[in-house]
Amino acid sequence: MHSNQTNIKTHQIINFSWPEGKKCAVAIGWHVDGEAGPIASDPRNLHHIAALSMGAYGVSTALPRILDLHDDLNVPGSFFVPGYVAERHPDVIKQVVARGHEVAHHGYCHENVFLLEEHQEREVFCRGGEILKEITGKYPVGWSAPGWGIKQSTLNILVDLGMLYDCSLMEYDVPYFISVGKKSLVEIPISMILDDYEIFGGWLFPNGGGVNAPAETAYKIWKEEFDGIRRFGGLFSTTFHPEFLGRPGRLNMLYSLFAYMKSFDDVWWATFEEIALYTQKFFIEEEG
Ligand code: ZN
Repeated sequence: MHSNQTNIKTHQIINFSWPEGKKCAVAIGWHVDGEAGPIASDPRNLHHIAALSMGAYGVSTALPRILDLHDDLNVPGSFFVPGYVAERHPDVIKQVVARGHEVAHHGYCHENVFLLEEHQEREVFCRGGEILKEITGKYPVGWSAPGWGIKQSTLNILVDLGMLYDCSLMEYDVPYFISVGKKSLVEIPISMILDDYEIFGGWLFPNGGGVNAPAETAYKIWKEEFDGIRRFGGLFSTTFHPEFLGRPGRLNMLYSLFAYMKSFDDVWWATFEEIALYTQKFFIEEEG
């Protein structure tokens, strides 16, 4: 255990191992930012019809195709959905749940809560969580930070809401714990290497576009990362965005990548929630 400057206490799990002798784990996370993505990047996008339509593509066109990919390859997924997007597209979000996947918290309108006052932050959490509960029938148990904005008050709110995990931090290769007062959260680490925004990201306005790399680039980076994670026993946890990775050519690549990754039988494919529940057992054991 050690503390950093903001007094966050992280706990590495020394004897961590994956279940049933698996060498590593894969958790496919999708950030379904939809129209909330461009609005959060610049509030003027609320009136920018082309930028909104680019976000909407991710939900209306890409998400159904992504759900088919998950079905075709029998891959579980975790879908982080801002309440604003769920309100606008309730039918497809219900589909996510009906097809056996997890829906998790991603703010109300993709706010970067690092920039908010604590009372505003709480409002965002409560509003987003209630909408997801209404649409999916279940309060989300996990959260990933829009724009990777996270601070002490964020952790306090996650604990106050009884949530199980955060996936926004990066200290270890495998899940760990964060102490928040007398309680703790499971931290499921992410990595910028497995974030498609780094390869394909960008919004129409105000920047006027973004990166347009070939899908093959992502295949190479993610395959080499998977091979390394499998060797060293880590977690391959993704931050994928339907509006970018759900384009036909890129999704075609993802079929090939997942087929390669599925060719190994020592890999545990799970939702973030399943990994958090599994990890929680280590804490209960350590606490006695
Ligand atoms: Zn997001």
